[in-house]
Amino acid sequence: MVSLAPSAAIGVLVVVIAVYALLYVRARRRGIQQGATRIARCSAGHLFTSTVIPGASFRAIRLGSSRYQHCPVGNHMALVSWVDPSTLTPEQRAAAAAVRDSRIP
Ligand SMILES: [Zn+2]
Repeated sequence: MVSLAPSAAIGVLVVVIAVYALLYVRARRRGIQQGATRIARCSAGHLFTSTVIPGASFRAIRLGSSRYQHCPVGNHMALVSWVDPSTLTPEQRAAAAAVRDSRIP
């Protein structure tokens, strides 16, 4: 087991908090809200909503701006990207809202 001196433990804690603060600011600048749901599209074109928590991906592998995760519409693994809702028709937004991925990011 690794034991850290109190000053080293505080240093690690400060670094972790700084990384999360940077991820939070970056996400806010990209318009991503904490714990928000966003519309996603898989590589096969399926639309669904998914939970976003910047810095946390327990069910997806992040690949830059895309994620490799389960698509609940097609029940398959696929590259998934966020979609700007303003680019969708009302029918597409309704279809995406009808299928919600797990609340776990
Ligand atoms: Zn799909």
